[in-house]
Amino acid sequence: MSLLRFKMVDAAINHAAVEPTAPEGCPSDYFGEKVFNHAAMRKYLDKRTYALLSETMEKGTPLSREVADSVAAGMRQWALEHGADHYTHWFQPLTGGTAEKHDAFAEPDGEGGVLEEFSGKLLVQQEPDASSFPNGGIRNTFEARGYSAWDPTSPAFIVDTTLCIPTVFIAYTGEALDYKVPLLRAVTAVGDAATEVCHYFDKNVQRVFSYLGWEQEYFLVDESLWAIRPDLVLTGRTLMGHESAKNQQLEDHYFGAIPARVMAFMKDLEYESLKLGIPVKTRHNEVAPNQFELAPVYEEVNLANDHNQLLMTIMDKIARRHHFRVLLHEKPFKGINGSGKHNNWSLGTDTGVNLLGPGKTASENLQFITFLVNVISAVYKNNGLLKASIMSATNAHRLGANEAPPAIISTFLGSQVSAVLDKLEASRGDDAIRFDARNVFKMSGISHIPTLLLDNTDRNRTSPFAFTGNRFEFRAVGSSDNCAEAMIVLNSAVAAELRDFKAAVDARIEAGAKKEKAIYEVLKQKIKACKAIRFDGNGYSDEWKEEAARRGLDCETSTPLMIDHYLDKNVVKMFADLGVFSKVELEARAEVKWETYAKKIQIESRVLGDLTMNHIVPIASKYEAMLLDKVYKMSQLQGLNASADILLIKKIQDHTAAIQKMTDDMIEARKQANRIEDQREKAIAYHDMVAVFLDKIRYHVDKLEEIVDDQIWPLPKYRELLFIR
Ligand code: ADP
Ligand code: MG
Repeated sequence: MSLLRFKMVDAAINHAAVEPTAPEGCPSDYFGEKVFNHAAMRKYLDKRTYALLSETMEKGTPLSREVADSVAAGMRQWALEHGADHYTHWFQPLTGGTAEKHDAFAEPDGEGGVLEEFSGKLLVQQEPDASSFPNGGIRNTFEARGYSAWDPTSPAFIVDTTLCIPTVFIAYTGEALDYKVPLLRAVTAVGDAATEVCHYFDKNVQRVFSYLGWEQEYFLVDESLWAIRPDLVLTGRTLMGHESAKNQQLEDHYFGAIPARVMAFMKDLEYESLKLGIPVKTRHNEVAPNQFELAPVYEEVNLANDHNQLLMTIMDKIARRHHFRVLLHEKPFKGINGSGKHNNWSLGTDTGVNLLGPGKTASENLQFITFLVNVISAVYKNNGLLKASIMSATNAHRLGANEAPPAIISTFLGSQVSAVLDKLEASRGDDAIRFDARNVFKMSGISHIPTLLLDNTDRNRTSPFAFTGNRFEFRAVGSSDNCAEAMIVLNSAVAAELRDFKAAVDARIEAGAKKEKAIYEVLKQKIKACKAIRFDGNGYSDEWKEEAARRGLDCETSTPLMIDHYLDKNVVKMFADLGVFSKVELEARAEVKWETYAKKIQIESRVLGDLTMNHIVPIASKYEAMLLDKVYKMSQLQGLNASADILLIKKIQDHTAAIQKMTDDMIEARKQANRIEDQREKAIAYHDMVAVFLDKIRYHVDKLEEIVDDQIWPLPKYRELLFIR
């Protein structure tokens, strides 16, 4: 082991669990204490202001400036009393992550003192000098006109000593520059369309909400080891590293005991999350060593997404306190599972009905089937677009790469729901669907085990979009993603489908058909038309790839080409009709996606080049020189056979030569790609010409890791990175 590596491994082993700050006692004592929630509003706002703000939060009615001033005054007082001295508009630019620019509450009062200033104007709108966020050409940097505006539907909160105000980020000309604006638009679109469809079944429904429950997977690595892996530090993943002899094959990590150090971290993370009103609920080990998962109770999608964004930021801070680094990259380690962010999604009414859950009456079940069919039909029509929404340079390693699920979107419904759809499709009349919400499953022969309530679905872990009994689970979302992108596309696609459904049913009713019959007929058509998207088999298999291609599903594997779907004619029309994205906004988003893709590959390629030339080749050469010296000395003596050493020297020669040659070629390819101006073309060049070198070079480095003397190998190995003691 090199001295540095030894020191760091030693430090990692000796990092003891850090005492968590979480107090003993009940989470309800501190849940939401850092949030300007209803309880705080009631205390700090006058009655009228509170009533008006509540109405805005619930119904989206506009707030007058005068009311905003009162809200700001109350919010400021609350924040100051809770230790805040700064405030910031907190927004979600297209870079991923969140952005904030802190301003102090204290302002000079003009008489030599300071005044705690925070008006309605400062609460509602700001012009952050955020000109260098990616905007896909919507806003030239010299114009620097981007506005952040308060989103009252997501409550303000305090992180450290800063009051954070969730805001949207828009250009002077009105185009969205963030994830929140289109998400809010998509949520409105799906809510309105779903409400209309609900009226076939229940006239009392006034609003439909879109819900999201994310499951966040992540890896932890010890900070000392992380610090001497430049690839982890700069790209978030290991660009090299031979597989550890033991990794996940024994499946002993999944749901296993959580190591003490990790447990302390999780306790702190949960404590901080709960104080911020993030309703975290489950924690457990994931499949791969050092991989974990955290999931909250689901919430309205805009709030849920803010909470996920917030969680990702605080995770990082808390990890450092525990001498860890969090890896949110989708594939930090080769050969073991990557991380996703399962997006559990559903629609629910203001009357408390989950539209994706089976009901008790025939009418409720027809409503359930209606929404279910519209969802899978939307997924079918937009399978390429949905894939584009979750694809990135980092998630590409997880989907469709060596590890499944493949880069093909399909839906899993389970045998019972599939049977219902098949029956419906084959039926001729309008026979009522008998769908038992409580499938009582008796285990024969084992009398002491109580009757189990079976989910309406079997479990299929290989499906990227699975129905799980009362919701869909979009599993292809990447662990580092902003969920909003997937949620914008999904909610929009479903909104468009529901509008289409309503138009078709209404047309039949106008032509004299009875409502139920009209609904059945349209459903039957949709079930037939979208059959190709249903796949209950093994999504990891090669046969499925062939089958999916035959079915006409999108099987594109190149990320830059997937992004093209954002500009498909029907997609542009769909988003425009729904008022979610204008064409300019879509072009800008695609542009940013291409640009980000190329930049990420560029960085990886540079880091790999540095590592091979500054770390790997010199060390391998050093070992080679030692061997050469040995062989030379052996040749001076009689009767010694150096053939094994010579073979080893040759191997090292071959690998280092290949690395040097390919590194040069990769640099040349990069130069060529960099000369391309067009972002799409550039991304394609990075995909086709540069990214291909990463794995090829890695192959030789990993071979060298196996044969070069461990004493001098500089980088922590997988077996050291992956097992927290
Ligand atoms: P699993 O790992 O079995 O998929 P988890 O309990 O880890 O399940 O996570 C399931 C997630 O789905 C949680 O965030 C949960 O709140 C969420 N969820 C449950 N019901 C719904 C629903 N109707 N709509 C949206 N999300 C839901
Ligand atoms: Mg899940």
